[in-house]
Amino acid sequence: MEIFKNPNCRKIRGSHILDVVCAQCKCFIAKYQKVGETNFVKMYNDRIIEGCVDFSQYHGAIFCPNCGERIATRYVTKIDKQEAYRLVPSAFNKKRV
Ligand SMILES: [Zn+2]
Repeated sequence: MEIFKNPNCRKIRGSHILDVVCAQCKCFIAKYQKVGETNFVKMYNDRIIEGCVDFSQYHGAIFCPNCGERIATRYVTKIDKQEAYRLVPSAFNKKRV
């Protein structure tokens, strides 16, 4: 499976890295820089390091490339108007790297 580096990724100081995998088939979805210990409910586009889809383009939703399960849906955050993906809570597992 091809892994796409996200050219829009910025280094986030003080973040830790999470691997996000499909809950159903364990297929790799994305490597993400998470800030703080709050619930993991969304991924900002510019904190995604790499993933199973080309994050240089925006996608209406992210689907597992293996089983087709919907992992997240694109939206723009209300407060700071940032491009992000809202995660489907039951569709993924995360692991701190
Ligand atoms: Zn899957």
